[in-house]
Amino acid sequence: MVAKVLDGREIAKNYRAGLQEEVEKLKSEGITPNLTVVLVGNDGASQSYVNNKKKSAEKIGMKSEIIHLEETTTEEELLKVIDQLNNDTEVHGILVQVPLPKQIEETKILEAISPEKDVDGFSPINIGRLYAGMETYIPCTPLGIMEILKNADMSLEGADVAVIGRSHIVGQPVAKLLTDANATVTLLHSRSKNMKEVLKRSDVIVSAVGKPGLVTKEDVKPGAVIVDVGNTVVDGKLTGDVMYDEVAEVASAITPVPGGVGPLTITMVLNNTLLAAKRINNK
Ligand code: NAP
Repeated sequence: MVAKVLDGREIAKNYRAGLQEEVEKLKSEGITPNLTVVLVGNDGASQSYVNNKKKSAEKIGMKSEIIHLEETTTEEELLKVIDQLNNDTEVHGILVQVPLPKQIEETKILEAISPEKDVDGFSPINIGRLYAGMETYIPCTPLGIMEILKNADMSLEGADVAVIGRSHIVGQPVAKLLTDANATVTLLHSRSKNMKEVLKRSDVIVSAVGKPGLVTKEDVKPGAVIVDVGNTVVDGKLTGDVMYDEVAEVASAITPVPGGVGPLTITMVLNNTLLAAKRINNK
């Protein structure tokens, strides 16, 4: 079997075309969706992430600004900036790029972002609303994974799905979304016993760990669908958790790294910003 490549760039391109149409429609009603990204400090990777988000937003007709603050910014100063953005009627989506310098407590910042503008879906209120089945902003990587799975020519209804990794931003929310889609989900982590057996009987494996080589051909049931979320730089190359070449020989569909989940994560930031612009303006 040669696996179908779940091409994240292609899926993202099609999805963004739909978003662009909706942005144009909203603009014709006098509303320009605006994503504002706050970056504190000079971390190279973070700078390239925020530039990428701004460029992607502008490409589909949104307005996007980066507020770049110094490495020495205090928690109080950052909270003041967030408060201004919360009250700025022109701003619909607020993202604060992490990691933050150590003098700033991340959870305090996430709590301060207005839940209405929290397009990352990381604020405690939006996390709670997700689990309560209420209107919320679903975190972008889990939402992107669900979009990729729609392109995998399989039904999640009753499927056995293994999610490896239990972070608040990927593993846990994607397990919730998969459960809502009627899959039977096993959430695996570093203390899991019998991980290999669980993987071997799974129809879908979502790996969100950051350990290259974690999922091998021997772990995968023939015909399974594989979503590799892992991003680790090895010898200057972005590498996933899955041994791509050998697993592609047995899987029915697989995401590459790079070019799999990554492009969908940014797409869903745009999706949530559009949603915020609509909700704030009662559209
Ligand atoms: P994280 O917070 O570090 O969580 C990693 C998880 O992996 C933890 O739950 C940990 O278990 C588990 N784990 C560690 N070693 C394991 C092992 N040997 N077997 C099974 N589970 C193991 O990471 P994250 O923020 O969720 O990100 C995960 C990966 O996805 C990273 O490589 C990150 O760069 C990537 N990522 C990619 C995107 C994208 O858009 N492509 C977006 C977000 C993240 P414990 O809980 O027991 O410690």
